[in-house]
Amino acid sequence: MVSSKSYSSSREPNKVEKKIAIIGAGISGLLACKHTMEKGFNPVVFEARNGIGGVWSSTIDSTKLQTPKDHFQFSDFPWPKSVSQTFPDHNQVMEYVTSYALRFDIFSRIKFNSKVIGLDYIYSSSDDDDNMCSNWDMWGGNGEAFSSNGKWNVVVQNVLQPMEAPKVYQVDFVTLCIGKFSDLPNIPDFPISKGANKFNGEIIHSMDYAAMDKIQAAKFIKNKRVSVVGFQKSALDIAAEIAKNNGVTNPCTLVFRRVQWSGSENLVRFTFTNLNRFSELMVHKPGEGLFLWFLAVLLSPLVIALPLKHIYLIALDILQMRRIVPQMDLSVEKYEMVPQHSFLKQICSCMFMVLPQQFYDRVKEGSLVLQKSRVLGFYENGLILDNVVAAHLETDIVILATGYKSDAKIANIFTSIDFKKCILGSSAPFYRECIHPRIPQLAIMGYSESPATLFTFELRSKWIAHFLAGKFRLPPIREMEENVEKWEKNARRYSRENYKRACVGVMLQIHCNDQLCKDMGCNPRRKKWLFLSFILLITLQTMQIYETFLHNPHVLAKI
Ligand SMILES: Cc1cc2nc3c(=O)[nH]c(=O)nc-3n(C[C@H](O)[C@H](O)[C@H](O)COP(=O)(O)OP(=O)(O)OC[C@H]3O[C@@H](n4cnc5c(N)ncnc54)[C@H](O)[C@@H]3O)c2cc1C
Repeated sequence: MVSSKSYSSSREPNKVEKKIAIIGAGISGLLACKHTMEKGFNPVVFEARNGIGGVWSSTIDSTKLQTPKDHFQFSDFPWPKSVSQTFPDHNQVMEYVTSYALRFDIFSRIKFNSKVIGLDYIYSSSDDDDNMCSNWDMWGGNGEAFSSNGKWNVVVQNVLQPMEAPKVYQVDFVTLCIGKFSDLPNIPDFPISKGANKFNGEIIHSMDYAAMDKIQAAKFIKNKRVSVVGFQKSALDIAAEIAKNNGVTNPCTLVFRRVQWSGSENLVRFTFTNLNRFSELMVHKPGEGLFLWFLAVLLSPLVIALPLKHIYLIALDILQMRRIVPQMDLSVEKYEMVPQHSFLKQICSCMFMVLPQQFYDRVKEGSLVLQKSRVLGFYENGLILDNVVAAHLETDIVILATGYKSDAKIANIFTSIDFKKCILGSSAPFYRECIHPRIPQLAIMGYSESPATLFTFELRSKWIAHFLAGKFRLPPIREMEENVEKWEKNARRYSRENYKRACVGVMLQIHCNDQLCKDMGCNPRRKKWLFLSFILLITLQTMQIYETFLHNPHVLAKI
């Protein structure tokens, strides 16, 4: 197994001299900044908007965390006692994130209204070879964060003065934290004869709806027939919110191609408590040895049971029975909302969603209509479903909750065609989910999804800060690429056709974080414990225990 630790660093960099740019002041940018500062550097953060928080600063009114807050918590800054909910709303998340930025004096590092419009890598060498980068065996030539020959030119536009010439800042390292759920919407292709231009109503993307405040949004949909296209979290939230506001007089229609697994907050809580080292033994791991392979084969029947839809339904119903005795809610079956694919495939592709509260109540009362359609087109008064002319859905507004082009967003920021290709061309691009083996002196945060992104971002921020401080070197490029391919192959094994790159599979959270800890020279298994308690610990160590352990200041901060 590749471990960055085995490549010990040659020297500690001069932290005062080295210039580090962090792009974006969402949660990942704030974490990157805090941990880089903690290691003695003086980073500068460029943020396109006039505030911090990224997606949480501009979202629909009903958005809540769908991760239990204990798993969405800064290690050194717990949620305030006043937040008693397990799933706080977006205002509470914003307050929490803002307090964190204040507490660690991150605001003073941020240049607001500063949009990075280009990243240009400059390599000066006595060697005439233009293809120097592509010939490297080691990342950046030496496997280290910094190189005496390489710099990034960060081209920054003041968004308040768009006519002003952009400024160029030269830095030694860039941490890119521009997020993947904003800015560049994914608009589906419609047949030319049934394109958006045929429609007399209004079409917007979910990000434009999310950008409206509560009053604007309510005014926009008032007395209108609205159709929401998609079945991701934002589609469900928006449809439920509109159904609540417009009621049965103007029902909202949710139009989707494929049903995805979604469940109650209780189910999410239940799933988190079952993410532990024991459940990780049931699945194969990239580059596993014979012992782990054998264990995974032995225990795989337990995982094979997961795909059985009814296990999930029974679990859901049991949970609901516990709350609303003796009523059982079998709406998922009643409205034919049981997905064709397995629950396991879905969670392994980071696509599980929490259903908005009273979702099926709204379907029952008729304020929300569920409409499956594989193909969509427009006509003057609405949507044509499944390409059948007869199946017309009259509507005034269409909201496309069809996601974002996150790869293109990252690729667009590079001026080099080669770096653009690195992002768009490779299938599973990032080593340790944050380093592209062929893009030197740069880390990418916030790209990789997981059920608890804050924890994932925080650990990666610590890892990047350790790397910057010269605590370890990266392995040769070829080894990193092989490692990345192994992770991809393993992810495909479980998510199959649902495979989504840049998803830290839910079943391998702890294993993945173990790799980062090992690189940093930290053993999250606490070997010093007595043998028995050690065995108990490694089998029953849940995400919660794992996080609590790593949050202990004596563990990572000491390295
Ligand atoms: C509605 C919603 C709900 C979610 N709920 C959860 C949840 O419950 N649990 C969970 O774990 N995750 C959740 N997520 C995932 C979410 O993406 C993360 O929680 C996290 O907030 C992402 O932070 P980020 O900093 O990576 O990206 P963002 O929040 O997108 O921040 C990126 C920042 O970069 C800035 N930026 C972008 N481009 C540039 C540029 N060129 N120059 C300068 N600045 C730039 C943006 O303005 C923005 O401020 C949710 C996401 C959404 C959209």
